[in-house]
Amino acid sequence: MSTFKAPKGTYDLLPPASRQHLAVREAIAAPLRTAGYGYIETPGFESVELFARGVGESTDIVTKEMYAFETKGGDRLALRPEGTASVLRAALEGGLHKAGNLPVKLWYSGSYYRYERPQKGRYRHFAQVGAEALGIEDPAVDAELIILADQAYRSLGLRTYRILLNSLGDQRCRPAYRATLQDFLRGLDLDEETRRRIDINPLRVLDDKRESVRRQLTGAPLIVDHLCDDCRAYHDQVRELLTAEGVAFEDDPRLVRGLDYYTRTTFEFVHDGLGSQSAVGGGGRYDGLSEMLGGPALPSVGWALGVDRTVLALEAEGVELPLPPTTSVYAIPLGEKARTTLFSLVTTLRKAGVAADFSYGGRGLKGAMKAANRSGAAYTVVAGERDLAEGVVQLKDMESGEQVPVPVAEAAEELERRLRG
Ligand code: ATP
Ligand code: MG
Repeated sequence: MSTFKAPKGTYDLLPPASRQHLAVREAIAAPLRTAGYGYIETPGFESVELFARGVGESTDIVTKEMYAFETKGGDRLALRPEGTASVLRAALEGGLHKAGNLPVKLWYSGSYYRYERPQKGRYRHFAQVGAEALGIEDPAVDAELIILADQAYRSLGLRTYRILLNSLGDQRCRPAYRATLQDFLRGLDLDEETRRRIDINPLRVLDDKRESVRRQLTGAPLIVDHLCDDCRAYHDQVRELLTAEGVAFEDDPRLVRGLDYYTRTTFEFVHDGLGSQSAVGGGGRYDGLSEMLGGPALPSVGWALGVDRTVLALEAEGVELPLPPTTSVYAIPLGEKARTTLFSLVTTLRKAGVAADFSYGGRGLKGAMKAANRSGAAYTVVAGERDLAEGVVQLKDMESGEQVPVPVAEAAEELERRLRG
């Protein structure tokens, strides 16, 4: 232990547990790679203003959760609390959206920062993998993204998650609905902050998790009953495409992302084994966001899945990921000459893609065998002066305990053959 500890609400990912996280990130990315999504990486911080506009001034993220600071040069920056605003900013800045390129399909994976009250599944530094399809209005893209996330979760072996789906309408039908909702909400018994929200962001009130509020929301007007014909048709198509692909979803008329530039399709992946932090991922359409950032009209849709909560969901379901062993071959040299020979063998194996490790520091046989056992290696290779004088190394099968001499020159090939078999 040193004097220092990880900051409150953060965690270190240490081996062996870190392998799970990496495997989850890769499993989420894999379906995206097969669907034409290109990898994008953006800075860990951006101008505060980007998030104020791109996430929304009235959201918890911007008002309470953002790590904002001023640089020595006087710039107002914030650690990124989410990915969409940055990705859209970068795509616009890089001109990815130019002629004939649409949709621009991108995926990302990284760390995000929110000043939250830390608890299980809710951290101040966490990881997301996300995907965005920019510049196209087509129910097939919305459906595609939901299908790809579903595919990722399935490939991980998750079963008891649910997909909640809703439509938020668009600029034509939402304003009238918004006003109807405001009228309803103004008649309720709500606290000061929530009343303020009715003016700025009334849809968000529907998302209030407090029982006292939820009770009063029974009977609230729902957007599904106020969709215009276009939005209704669009939503029906998304639902039909999902159904045709066998992706089960639940209509949740109260599911919201309450900002003006969020439109139409909105969805969330929830897992019931996670207690109150039940959302493992979420997303939706944000047709007005590009214009909010000063860009051209660029109707888009995307999602972000939480890596941490996905790992917790796997644990809750008792799913063990089939992780390949980190070490397949462990080499134990006894003496200086053997060191050179086995170091060379290990290097050769690694070049051939075999995970191989080495007993460093001139450790004795007993300690080295313990390390070999801990490493999970399927084979150890031991060599001493006498073995080398006979031109062999001792190859030991760690499972059966069987040990055979193998000529030095054939050792690498023999190991590769056995590991393949
Ligand atoms: P919540 O309602 O739980 O606060 P959110 O709506 O703020 O979630 P999004 O902004 O949609 O979450 O982010 C997408 C996903 O990122 C979430 O579903 C969750 O899995 C993950 N996530 C969000 N905030 C955190 C956090 N503080 N710690 C860990 N994971 C998080
Ligand atoms: Mg949140």
